Formats: sequence, structure tokens, C-alpha cells
Amino acid sequence: MTGPLYIAAYDTESPSCLEALRAIVPVHERHGVPATIYLVARMLDSQQAELVALLRDHPLFEIACHSYTHMLLHDADEFGKAGPPERYPAEIIDSKRRIEDAFGVAVRGFRPPVCSPEGLRIAPEALRLVAQAGYAYVSSIAWGPKWSLPAWLVRPFTYAEQGHPALWELPPCGWHENLLKGNNKVGAVRIGLFPPYMPETMPPGYVKTPEDEFAYNNRPFIDRAIAEAMPQVSLIWHPWSLHRFDPAMRMLEITFRYVRERGLAAGTFGQLQALIAGA
Ligand SMILES: [Zn+2]
Repeated sequence: MTGPLYIAAYDTESPSCLEALRAIVPVHERHGVPATIYLVARMLDSQQAELVALLRDHPLFEIACHSYTHMLLHDADEFGKAGPPERYPAEIIDSKRRIEDAFGVAVRGFRPPVCSPEGLRIAPEALRLVAQAGYAYVSSIAWGPKWSLPAWLVRPFTYAEQGHPALWELPPCGWHENLLKGNNKVGAVRIGLFPPYMPETMPPGYVKTPEDEFAYNNRPFIDRAIAEAMPQVSLIWHPWSLHRFDPAMRMLEITFRYVRERGLAAGTFGQLQALIAGA
């Protein structure tokens, strides 16, 4: 493998994500770029036929789990409080089964709602259920220190220290792009760290164009992942937010062209897990 594996991934979490996916899928098909779709299982309760028609048996897309209802599995600073633990099995185990039944494939990955700077190390009960459910990996470190953004580049590791040596953590990096654009009203005031981790990723205000999004988030992280010989580079994207900001998905076009230009292989989180676990 030459350089980091580039992984496109989508936290797909609300009904408006369906229309967004209809714009996203053709860009992937045009470029032959795979992606991991982290799906909130509740979307299947209202949009199963549409999601299955779009994604089932599609050779480019891995379907993974983003909980059942997007209930938080740990406190998340000012972004919310953990839900009741008696509901964790539904969020972690029933969601997996629900997605597997709809798509006819094994679900191997889990991304918890909102994530944290320490991943599921801060949520031992959730971690235990994730391991019990048979997930091969979680992707749950998506914040920098003290709940800052962007999230730093973090190498994959296993949760052996917590008693789950076969369970991998595969972190994404960069901005939650919705916060970079002001598409959420929460948390924007104190989000940056000073001094910044990467000054080139701190725009003077919310980004206004797909080109700016690429320049302040995607390109610097791809470049740094190459420079640091990271195994992976994956940005934090939400279909609803991408679509609201950039309905033509120009940012995807620019990013996929750049990935090719830098000579990176593209794959899914599931493929990354198989690569490093088998190494
Ligand atoms: Zn989410």
C-alpha cells in the first residue's frame, strides 16, 4: 500500500440525508471511489425501500452502523448528555441487526453519535456491548483535546487495554464539516484550540464555498496524513449538511480528484480494518 488509505465516510442520520445520498452516490460511481455509510437504523423505519434501492449490493459502499436513534452513549461536553443505559442494547445491538436484515450483509463497523476525544474509552458499557455485538471496529475519536476541532490524526489501535483485543478503533480526522459551515447552532464559539494543531485548518470565519471547505479541511489533512505516513485519512461528513451547503457536490469532485492526484488508494473502513488486522 502506498500512503494512507483514503476513506470517504458519511454519518447518515436524518431523513434529509436520503435526498443528499441521491446526489452523493453518482459522484462515487463516476470516480470509482468507495465509501462507508454509517447509518442511523431508525431511518430504515421510514425510508427502507429507498435506502435499499440506492445502496443494497452496491459494490462501492460499505454499510455500517451509527446507532438506532442517535442517542448519546456518553456525555458529550456541551453537545449533550448520555441517554439511559437500559437503551444501549437497542442503540448498539438491535441497530446492527436491523441494518443487516435490510441490506443482507454483515455490519462490521460502528460510529457512535457525536463521538469524543477519547473514543469509546470514556464509555465502558457501550464498548462492552459493541464487542459483544460482534463489531470488528469502531470509529469514535472525532474531536481534538478538550472537545476542540479539528480532530487530530490518530493511528488505529485496539481496545486490548479495556479487555477487547480484537476490537479496532479507526479514527477519522478534521472538522465535523457541519460545524465548519455553521450548519449547527451549537458549540461554535469555543471550538478551536489555541495554539492551533494545524493553523492552516483555521479559517477566519465559517467557510462559504466548496473550494474553501477543501482548502481548510480536506487538503491539509490529506497532505499531513501523507507526510506522517498515516495508515488512514477520513474526513467527517454528514449528507444533510453537504447537501445544504453544496447540492452539486463539487467538494466531493475536488476531493476525489485530489486523492487521485496524490496517488492514494481509496477504500472503506471495513477494508482498512481487514488490512491492519491481517497485517
Ligand atoms: Zn451523527
